[in-house]
Amino acid sequence: MRNETYDIVVIGSGIAGLSYAIRCADFAKVLIVTKGNIGESNTMYAQGGIAAVLDDKDSIENHISDTLTAGDNHCNKDCVRLLAENAKDAILYLEQLSVNFNKTDNGTFDLHREGGHSHARIVHHADATGKEVESALVNVVKNNTNITIYENYFAIDLLVKENKCYGALIFKSDSEEFLQVNAKVTMLASGGLGQVFLQNTNPDVATGDGFAMAYRAGAEMEDMEFVQFHPTTLFARKGRTFLITEALRGFGAILKNSKGETFMENVHPLSSLAPRDIVSRAIIQEMNKDNSEFVYLDATKLDRESLEKHFPNIFERCLLEGLDISKDMIPVVPAAHYMCGGIKTDLHARSSIENLYACGECAATGVHGANRLASNSLLEGIVFAKQAANDTQQKIQETFTSAIFGNLEYKTPEVNCEECKQEVGALKRYLQAQMWRNCGIVRTESKLTYCFEELDELQEKTEKDLCENGFSIATMELLNMVTCSKLIVEAALKRTESKGCHYRAD
Ligand SMILES: Cc1cc2nc3c(=O)[nH]c(=O)nc-3n(C[C@H](O)[C@H](O)[C@H](O)COP(=O)(O)OP(=O)(O)OC[C@H]3O[C@@H](n4cnc5c(N)ncnc54)[C@H](O)[C@@H]3O)c2cc1C
Repeated sequence: MRNETYDIVVIGSGIAGLSYAIRCADFAKVLIVTKGNIGESNTMYAQGGIAAVLDDKDSIENHISDTLTAGDNHCNKDCVRLLAENAKDAILYLEQLSVNFNKTDNGTFDLHREGGHSHARIVHHADATGKEVESALVNVVKNNTNITIYENYFAIDLLVKENKCYGALIFKSDSEEFLQVNAKVTMLASGGLGQVFLQNTNPDVATGDGFAMAYRAGAEMEDMEFVQFHPTTLFARKGRTFLITEALRGFGAILKNSKGETFMENVHPLSSLAPRDIVSRAIIQEMNKDNSEFVYLDATKLDRESLEKHFPNIFERCLLEGLDISKDMIPVVPAAHYMCGGIKTDLHARSSIENLYACGECAATGVHGANRLASNSLLEGIVFAKQAANDTQQKIQETFTSAIFGNLEYKTPEVNCEECKQEVGALKRYLQAQMWRNCGIVRTESKLTYCFEELDELQEKTEKDLCENGFSIATMELLNMVTCSKLIVEAALKRTESKGCHYRAD
């Protein structure tokens, strides 16, 4: 097997992985491994923006308090303070890396307001903030001679012996070769797991590989029951879900049921801008009451020109669906969106395995607690990548890696047959449907227990019938999705109370 050695290997090329790599490239040779094209990530699709206190009328204490409230008193307060205090620097850092944020006529940041925030504090680039950030960071890493980028390389497993990480086992998809990467430090920045649910806002790459890899390696996991569902995604009978950012509600759009009646004012003092879990459940309740497939988001009272200016992508996408949002109400449904829990990390993004860091959506820093405050996740990615990079700089001086792990032998892959591929696809859809139906927005012990049994069977079938036919990325992703699903269901069964975005109807 090919064997390469770097100071640092970073798995994932979203905001967390890229910003960590950029900082570490000042003192180390870094390899970024990413399973698709470099830009493909949750980061790329982020719309609303990044939370930061930049207005005199706002305060860091307010940002902390809003985050703790959304997190249902389950947050790590030190991490939340660190996040809020470093938010302004994070925005300025991104500007230095050529990220363009919208400004007002007098040159200050144009701040949006989103659900759960008591002040306008969302820095944004129209309604495509993620694309702007991702493109700028990709540009920086591509021009850095200390950073090597391997696109279309799939990380299979971490190389861990006696609770120490020595790098990762990687599969190069085009030439079907395995590669052993030895590194002093490994960073898991592999993003979320939205794909385990039938209705979700995430791209195809979000199959939870990092969570599963870390779990297999023995890392401590935390808060896996807390999956956040986004209340408003464009209802579509076919095709991919499209997120309708909370900022549109912050701008004045109002939720209405299928009869065109408002309902959020009876649910929460912040009405349509209540925290996401509350809005998601209220929508499901209205849908059940009216036996409808969606509710409406009504932006028709808002000025057309402003809608086009502030939400150009949403405006255009809805037009493609035959909806002029200045005249037509938008049919919306909730969908799985963000994983609050994950690989347990400390203030420096260190996992419980030595030399293994985790950052971004795959990490559980404790910032989000039981429910994430909107626009805190891109921020978490940058702030904790900096924490990790500072810690790595010290660590790297004391850590030595040649091929300490020893050489790995791995079975040469056999290309999976067409029949196997179809079977993996069918099993993946089955898993997604089970998770959506039995471990979604409203959970009960009986549904969760049933789901766990189904997942057990699915795991056995995948391991027996598919893995024995040879390695394939699709099979590995399916296995990772099963592992993540089991972790979510297990945690959801253990937490018998309702908390944050975990809701137990029993
Ligand atoms: C539609 C949408 C809108 C959002 N809007 C906002 C917003 O406005 N504000 C906000 O703060 N947050 C928002 N979020 C959440 C936010 O985008 C994510 O939480 C954040 O981008 C996660 O960044 P990350 O770097 O941790 O992971 P990602 O950006 O998801 O990157 C993960 C990377 O890991 C790679 N990877 C995964 N598995 C492997 C493997 N096995 N081998 C190699 N590479 C692998 C992926 O290909 C990808 O490059 C939104 C999310 C979505 C989906």
